[in-house]
Amino acid sequence: MNIHEYQAKELLAKYGVPVPAGYPAMSVEEAVEAAKKLPGPLWVVKSQIHAGGRGKGRFKELGPEGKGGVRLARSIDEVREHAQEMLGKTLVTVQTGPAGKKVQRLYITDGVDIEKEFYLALLVDRESGRVAIVASTEGGVEIEKVAHETPEKIATINVDPATRLMPHHGREVAAALGLTGDLAKQAGKVLAKLYETFLGTDASQIEINPLAITGTGELMVLDAKVGFDSNADFRHPDLEQLRDLAEEEPMEIEASKYDLSYIKLDGSIGCMVNGAGLAMATMDIIKLEGGEPANFLDVGGGANKEKVTAAFKIILSDPAVKGILVNIFGGIMRCDIIAEGIVAAAREVDLKVPLVVRLEGTNVQQGKDILASSGLPIIPANDLGDAARKIVAEVKEAVPA
Ligand code: GDP
Ligand code: MG
Repeated sequence: MNIHEYQAKELLAKYGVPVPAGYPAMSVEEAVEAAKKLPGPLWVVKSQIHAGGRGKGRFKELGPEGKGGVRLARSIDEVREHAQEMLGKTLVTVQTGPAGKKVQRLYITDGVDIEKEFYLALLVDRESGRVAIVASTEGGVEIEKVAHETPEKIATINVDPATRLMPHHGREVAAALGLTGDLAKQAGKVLAKLYETFLGTDASQIEINPLAITGTGELMVLDAKVGFDSNADFRHPDLEQLRDLAEEEPMEIEASKYDLSYIKLDGSIGCMVNGAGLAMATMDIIKLEGGEPANFLDVGGGANKEKVTAAFKIILSDPAVKGILVNIFGGIMRCDIIAEGIVAAAREVDLKVPLVVRLEGTNVQQGKDILASSGLPIIPANDLGDAARKIVAEVKEAVPA
């Protein structure tokens, strides 16, 4: 799960990380009110979308000559003008893709004098299985470009989970950023607080770009991108309210309500499978038989009727789906229960595309009997290869090449 910059900064501030004062705004009036609460004489009007590169991004409606999604303002009137120009418009950045994202929220912050910009991030390094600190003197610009052209300017420091963050990590970061004296001390403090936030919220990444030295010699977080490990969602019910559904794919939101892992793909064969490994094997074998999967869908371990019905509905809401392959292994969940769920779901959604079902596991014969006696045109399959051949043939018949 990702959150907006303003939410990330509010969270970081709770952990004691220095951020400029600011207020979110959903309308031009709110933006003006927010600006009035800040001292000035410099404000920053920031588009809130779940993507970076906003400063250099451009609004579709304003064309390439228009201004970007992060702008400085020197008066309240200027804040109003920027807010009017940004709200409701589509911002295209290197991270949004060409479709861009509609700006529905703004963040009005206190404008800070910048002496220097750094990059500082915490993330999970899957190779070492540790939290990695990534630091670079080349903040502000796209870090991907720095990584590509001058990788020696990026330092990566792993933190041993047994010792957790130690003072020497702070000194290493300060050295990597070329900081000494009081600024080096501040860097250590900021790092410790970021690390605390990372562990405390089960974050998957905290990316600060830029971490700035201000005109008054303070280190301050001017932009923050925070994402959480969704496997730990249950430990953080309070973070759930930070979700902005407008930023997520509608079908993926629907799927997450039922605890289904769904990813839309480009093919014509809808797949419903339990277990991520089996789902991938199913997609592979469909391709081997000359078909193309329309989605990845893992209904998980406890595949009950509600889940199966929801999964059918999600698969069928994709107009590209010309046939469905159900491949379920009944281990803990028995095959007869699954078969009942499939029959009930197929009836409820008034299935109009061919459905091939391969069941295996506990009570498989009872399951097959339920499918056969349902009166529904369900095509049974004996194994994975058989299932893939049958659904590919059915779909080819429905849509001749
Ligand atoms: P991004 O483009 O999505 O990464 O958005 P940022 O929040 O990082 O803003 C882009 C750039 O705007 C930053 O790299 C800064 O150079 C500039 N910027 C952001 N906040 C301030 C500020 O308070 N004062 C000044 N002078 N510049 C700022
Ligand atoms: Mg930034």
